[in-house]
Amino acid sequence: MSEQSFHLVCPHCQATNRVPAARLSAAPKCGKCGQQLLTASPHELNAQTANKVIQKNDVLTIVDFWASWCQPCIMMAPEFKSAARQLPQVVFAKVQTDKYEQAAAPYNIRSLPTMVALEMVRKSHVNQARYQVIKSSSGCKACSRSTSYIRLLIIQAIYPRAHVFL
Ligand SMILES: [Zn+2]
Repeated sequence: MSEQSFHLVCPHCQATNRVPAARLSAAPKCGKCGQQLLTASPHELNAQTANKVIQKNDVLTIVDFWASWCQPCIMMAPEFKSAARQLPQVVFAKVQTDKYEQAAAPYNIRSLPTMVALEMVRKSHVNQARYQVIKSSSGCKACSRSTSYIRLLIIQAIYPRAHVFL
């Protein structure tokens, strides 16, 4: 059996890298630009990068959909950043929906902030990969979001493999 590997989109140059599972915890670097693939801080996505990062990454990816006018979003941002620091093997990304409305459109965002946990699902028999929303959380509960809340969302999303990350 070949070793499991993951596709990781470089947050700096957007090249898709293939990283063996065992290398994920060893600060993997981009084969194209040489910079860190896992930065332990949220990526700011734009209209061009959002689709690529969300659909090509096949490690657990948590996307925060926010807007500049949304006070709870701004309150939540430091907690999101802190969760990214604590979980370096999870990709954290942000989409500013008032700036990049189109980037948010496929995710049917109804209230802000919304956090979506996505993971690539590979079906060997169809030889095709697609992303899947594994957990979505939105609405006023967001007002009290803390690092532990984000962590809980991740645990729910990846249970029972949570021990891999936590
Ligand atoms: Zn790169």
